Amino acid sequence: MPAFICTACGVQYPPAEAPPDSCPICQDERQYIPPAGQQWTTPARLAAAHRNAWHQHEPGLLGIGTTPAFAIGQRALLIRTAEGNVLWDGLSLLDDATVALLRALGGLAAIAISHPHYYGNMVEWAQTFGCPLWLQAGDRHWAVRPDPAICFWSGATQALPGGLTLIHAPGHFDGAAMLHWPGGAEGRGALLSGDIVQVAADRRTAGFMRSYPNWIPLGPAAVRRIGDAVAPFAFDRVYGAWWDRVIETDGKAAVERSVARALHWLEAP
Ligand SMILES: [Zn+2]
Ligand SMILES: [Zn+2]
Repeated sequence: MPAFICTACGVQYPPAEAPPDSCPICQDERQYIPPAGQQWTTPARLAAAHRNAWHQHEPGLLGIGTTPAFAIGQRALLIRTAEGNVLWDGLSLLDDATVALLRALGGLAAIAISHPHYYGNMVEWAQTFGCPLWLQAGDRHWAVRPDPAICFWSGATQALPGGLTLIHAPGHFDGAAMLHWPGGAEGRGALLSGDIVQVAADRRTAGFMRSYPNWIPLGPAAVRRIGDAVAPFAFDRVYGAWWDRVIETDGKAAVERSVARALHWLEAP
């Protein structure tokens, strides 16, 4: 039985004879059902027409993204630490080449995902590499493919192998999380932000929204909370959710300026 994948959000459901009736993640006001309606694919059909491409963003950090782009089109990040490899955010495709390459790199010590839009086929990755899959407990009800590998964490932060820290930053989702990598940016630190802190097109600032495709803003309290959540962490670079959405330097000040800018417009008379 195939584990069907929603072609709009890329999230995979438990193996079944037939696809689910609907995708709750796409029915949610933060995502959307495409004009052509809800459609599904299978891992085999996806692998037949797509592959995963790799790019080294900097030493110790590999981007992995599916090409041609599928569903939301994010790329994942593989952080290589002395305590093993950690996958940040999910894709929908785990093909044979990706399995072989990751095994040659030492497999995975952990997977962590920022929020449900990037869940993809995360359970397949966790099962293949026999590693824990970290999700923030606030999004427990969005984990539509349950699995023993899923570890729900709660509280403000969660330590991962290699000195990495998950940071809870509710806003886009109740369980929204970001990842701090102290070894990033040549030791100045990097924030892997998914779209919780959404790196903007200028690659110098960021935005904060409840829904990006449907233009639903976050209120001032939530924006402040996101700024406060990352304030204790040192970082110079911010890796957003797409290949080119990276604030290369001065990232911490860029996030602070972006929080102040958002609050200015949210609170303008
Ligand atoms: Zn969906
Ligand atoms: Zn999202």
